Amino acid sequence: MSDSYDVVVIGGGPGGYAAAIKATHLGQKVACIDKYINKNGKPALGGTCANVGCIPSKALLDSTWKFHEAQGELSVHGIDVGNVSMDVAQMIKRKDDIVEKQTGGVAMLLKANGVTWLQGTGKLVAGKKVEFVPHDGDAQVLEAQNVILATGSSPIELPMAKLQEDIIVDNSGALEFTEVPKRLGVIGAGIIGLELGSVWSRLGSDVVVLEAMDAFLPMVDKQVGKEALKNLKKQGLDIRLSARLTGTTVKDGIVSVEYTDADGEQTMEVDKLIVAVGRRPITEDLFSVDSGVNLDERGFIFVNQSCATDVPGVYAIGDIVRGPALAHKATEEGVMVAELISGHHAEINYDCIPSVIYTHPEVSWVGLSEEQVKAQGDEYKTGMFAFVANGRAVAANETTGFVKVVSDVATDRVLGVHIVGPQASEIIMQAVIALEFGASTEDLQLMVFAHPGLSEVLHEAMLDVDGKAIHSVKRKRRK
Ligand code: FAD
Ligand code: AMP
Repeated sequence: MSDSYDVVVIGGGPGGYAAAIKATHLGQKVACIDKYINKNGKPALGGTCANVGCIPSKALLDSTWKFHEAQGELSVHGIDVGNVSMDVAQMIKRKDDIVEKQTGGVAMLLKANGVTWLQGTGKLVAGKKVEFVPHDGDAQVLEAQNVILATGSSPIELPMAKLQEDIIVDNSGALEFTEVPKRLGVIGAGIIGLELGSVWSRLGSDVVVLEAMDAFLPMVDKQVGKEALKNLKKQGLDIRLSARLTGTTVKDGIVSVEYTDADGEQTMEVDKLIVAVGRRPITEDLFSVDSGVNLDERGFIFVNQSCATDVPGVYAIGDIVRGPALAHKATEEGVMVAELISGHHAEINYDCIPSVIYTHPEVSWVGLSEEQVKAQGDEYKTGMFAFVANGRAVAANETTGFVKVVSDVATDRVLGVHIVGPQASEIIMQAVIALEFGASTEDLQLMVFAHPGLSEVLHEAMLDVDGKAIHSVKRKRRK
């Protein structure tokens, strides 16, 4: 094994492995160092996303939604499935099999593309060199023309809710419960808390979510957030806002949770507690003081728009840098950096990165919310259309929610699209394409959408901007 590479990537998550593959496509000699050891004690690629994040959480969300449907919703179709039960061990096994397939797939891709996978820990030191400490074997120093830092993030721990075996857990532990907790507490009503709370609530847990802020999903368009909150509560999630965790005690396998809300100090007892209060970038021991790399004021690695750090030839991508902590953002940054290193032009339109919450109904958005446009002082219009007035949604018995469009008055350009409802994670991609191409609402109004389709709701929302929606009784007057 040579110790000199064109590119050394530290971290094999969706940012790092995509950067490594793309760089080999462009003719570079690449090594990717990753230190992750999975629950079976084996090295595994794919990072948080494939091992304990996007993929396993969606596997459990899909299993539990099917269970929820079988329990009652299928009867409306005339389907009687009798008594339904959930084999939790089988559900977790299915999730583990999926994770194994995904992480194995990443390993296979690296091999097929000629990327050297180095299993162990990497650290950038002065002179753009990388110290590599393998899980087995002696430390070595790698020479690199370019280094990409992609070490991701880890869950924030709260001193008053220290993790404890399988009782007080983070997002990883919440994917491993062997039985359905009767009472489940979730700290933090962010995306991860809501998704994991939904998983166990659908299986019968009494779930209480404590959220310190008084606003629900403050990054989401207000109307969409309100609709999502209403539906999650209806599903049984007891979401308490302005409720700040202050302490926990575990006794006889039961967690006593102390928190404060508008009425003062409160306590509740739960059988399991998930702490989902955000994630922090993994930067400890990643670079030496004299490496030249700097952090920004929030503790992320400081980079410019092109993900370049303060050291020429050293880049940082994904959850360790500014911007949303999303797998697809990490991947696109990895691809961009591989292109730049190879002498090509590349950039990312950070204004067009979609976000999705995979609850039921799903929530998705891209671009600016009405509140953000209002705060900028720009003149804007909005259009809205509800799934309940859409034939495909009615046929599928999935009529919750709506699509909302925000557009610029002067140019008619689409500024943002916000969805709460069925297939929101898929429909949003049409909005991403529209924003990326600078489309006007008229451009989308004039397009032909297949009938019957959920995407027609997006079409009608675009029409509604000018009071032209066809299937609406509350039609706005045209100015
Ligand atoms: P990571 O995926 O964290 O990978 C970093 C890798 O680097 C890890 O393998 C780590 O072990 C390794 N590493 C760290 N330090 C070193 C070192 N010094 N040397 C060698 N290796 C090192 N995002 C979405 O877009 N959609 C979703 O649906 C979604 N769902 C999520 C659900 C959950 C429960 C969680 C926790 C996250 C979810 N995310 C989702 C976020 C997503 O997982 C992250 O944004 C994404 O994984 C970040 O990618 P990354 O490449 O920056 O880092
Ligand atoms: P996110 O960063 O999107 O994953 O969301 C984490 C959520 O946890 C945020 O909405 C925080 O306001 C919330 N949070 C952080 N600390 C506490 C706490 N002590 N009690 C309750 N909620 C908290």
